Amino acid sequence: MLAYGMKFEEESLVWLQNALSTLAEGFSSLPPNSSPSLDQAPMAAVLQETAIRLRENYPYFHPLYAGQMLKPPHPVARAAYALATWINPNNHALDGGRASSKMEIEAIQALATMFGWTAHLGHLTSGGTFANLEALWVAGQLHPGRTILASDQAHYTHHRISGVLRLPFDTVATDPRGRMDVNALETRIQKGDVGTVVVTMGTTALGAVDALPEILALRNRYGFRIHVDAAYGGYFTLVSNLDPDAADVFATLPAVDSIVIDPHKHGLQPYGCGCVLFQDPSVGRFYKHDSPYTYFTSDELHLGEISLECSRAGASAVALWATQRALPLTRGGEFAGMLQSCRSAALELYRRIHASAMFIAPIPPQLDIVVWAVRGDTPEESSARARAVFDAAARRNLHLALVHLPRSCFRENTWATTSGFAPSTTLVQCLRSVLMKSEHLAWIDAIWERIETAGQEILSAVDSAT
Ligand SMILES: *Cc1c(COP(=O)(O)O)cnc(C)c1O
Repeated sequence: MLAYGMKFEEESLVWLQNALSTLAEGFSSLPPNSSPSLDQAPMAAVLQETAIRLRENYPYFHPLYAGQMLKPPHPVARAAYALATWINPNNHALDGGRASSKMEIEAIQALATMFGWTAHLGHLTSGGTFANLEALWVAGQLHPGRTILASDQAHYTHHRISGVLRLPFDTVATDPRGRMDVNALETRIQKGDVGTVVVTMGTTALGAVDALPEILALRNRYGFRIHVDAAYGGYFTLVSNLDPDAADVFATLPAVDSIVIDPHKHGLQPYGCGCVLFQDPSVGRFYKHDSPYTYFTSDELHLGEISLECSRAGASAVALWATQRALPLTRGGEFAGMLQSCRSAALELYRRIHASAMFIAPIPPQLDIVVWAVRGDTPEESSARARAVFDAAARRNLHLALVHLPRSCFRENTWATTSGFAPSTTLVQCLRSVLMKSEHLAWIDAIWERIETAGQEILSAVDSAT
């Protein structure tokens, strides 16, 4: 069964047990509350059954899972989250989450400071989608009826959210590296109906970073709101091994109006933990409402007053606070070093793929996501081979992902024939690897060896068939 002796970390169970005793001591003036007598055997049996059901997952926790944006939280986050569930605070209002609301405010403050903001308003959400919803909702309050623009590589959620908010939405084309085409943006803005531009710092497919400095220059000329979707890429502001283009973008980040970042992506948190930040705290006026049943204990800020969601997991704030305490958001710190390893792993994988005759890697990674095609005579053949390599890698325990790239991302002469498709509209199925675990760097030889042998298996099968 456990042929390789795979074992999960269990140290955090000891920390949790000790912390639980400390937590209980804080309530020692209460009379003991005999907990409902648990019939142990059936509970344990159900948990065994649960463990067996959970085995059906791909091994997201293992470095050989290098496919989608999935990884487990940091052990400290896991233990802090679990610890909080013995209280189960609700950060809707201070009554329901006295300690955890303060921890949320401190955690949010640290994120705003990371982005170079001195003033801010913000809170945690259930994830990036809801955080973006709040940012576009505020944008719509400020510019009612005006268009939201995002690139064609932006997360699909912006289109949907604009629909929910009944705001007009339009897309802007991207350049061959997946970044918003700034000339196309300017042409679109000249129509005069744009209220907000969504700038993606780290697209979900490619990790591409939109050219914020140029977009800020357009804002000075035309006047519009800038919302940054940094759900995936935001934490990369801490690293020192970005390419110069991306580094310039992160340097201008403080000038934007709102930012979304997902601690449950690169912030080592369990789902669901997103965050929305506004530079101008006065947007809090849009949230104002009266709810006398819940806001009666103090004059302090109630997070429920600046959030569209009502009940929110206090445990998420506790876990994020504990993680940031253990691994502060500082340049040159341990957490930054972990992200830097991810980026180094991506650069190294890109280098090897680029040097291989089997593959075509058209876009150097801007963050830690690598996308590449398999050689073939036509885009269709390359697509079919990508799917075959994906399966061959999985048989070697290496889990990759698949993504469609527009034909325009590749050089004109990549394929001899394009079998009748308009070259610019053909989509090519590619392999994609998100190297978001810091251990990926140490595993890069093991990962590459599997990619290479999977590629050889597929391409030699093709050769012997012809
Ligand atoms: C993941 C992601 C989202 C959506 O966030 P969820 O937390 O999955 O709801 C939005 N934008 C970008 C750029 C993302 O990577």
